[in-house]
Amino acid sequence: MSSSEVFSEQAVIETAEQIRNATKRYEQLFVDLQSQISLDIKDLDSPVQIMSVCRKWTDDALIFFSNNFPLHRKTDCEKGCSHCCFLPVTCPPQVIADIAIYLKNTLSHQELTQLQQLLQKYVLKQESSQHRLKCPFLNQHDLCSIYEYRPLACRSFTSPDQQLCLASVRDGNTVTQDPVQHRIFMAATSALVNLCKQNGLPYQQVKFIPSLANVLE
Ligand code: SF4
Repeated sequence: MSSSEVFSEQAVIETAEQIRNATKRYEQLFVDLQSQISLDIKDLDSPVQIMSVCRKWTDDALIFFSNNFPLHRKTDCEKGCSHCCFLPVTCPPQVIADIAIYLKNTLSHQELTQLQQLLQKYVLKQESSQHRLKCPFLNQHDLCSIYEYRPLACRSFTSPDQQLCLASVRDGNTVTQDPVQHRIFMAATSALVNLCKQNGLPYQQVKFIPSLANVLE
């Protein structure tokens, strides 16, 4: 059989067409996810409600993709591994506002003052440091102390190998991300940015700790 005979076989051509259609449908899932989040948050003012909707959609999307596309990349992430908490984090403004409200509602006046001092210390150190610094929300057990409210960027991070993350703390290199998880959280991030634009508000993503320090002042 010649190559032209093999590749012109009707079944092969039909399979190629099916793959193209399935790929288009797959890509559309991420577009639909962003559209649906945008629709659900468009009339909300409260950052608490807005972020709650984003968390629900991204959590559901992660479960959906894990269940239905099980071939997507395995990660080496586990509880207590915190090398990624040395990476710089940026977020849409609503993320900062939501975390600030959570902290003000749950911390005593004294705890809030101590946290403000800790964040300010981090900001000053970061301005003069050549190295990546440990996030001030990482507790003495190397666990995130605001885990349920952590930024979307923290939620989206995945690693194929903990050693790469450890090395990245020292050498500043990036770690390749799971594309599915990254795209799910980008859908939510884009929906938040677009909401700010529609409402005529500043929409640029901001540095997590410096911005939170400002808001808590
Ligand atoms: S907020 Fe939590 S998850 Fe994000 S970098 Fe800080 S400690 Fe890590």
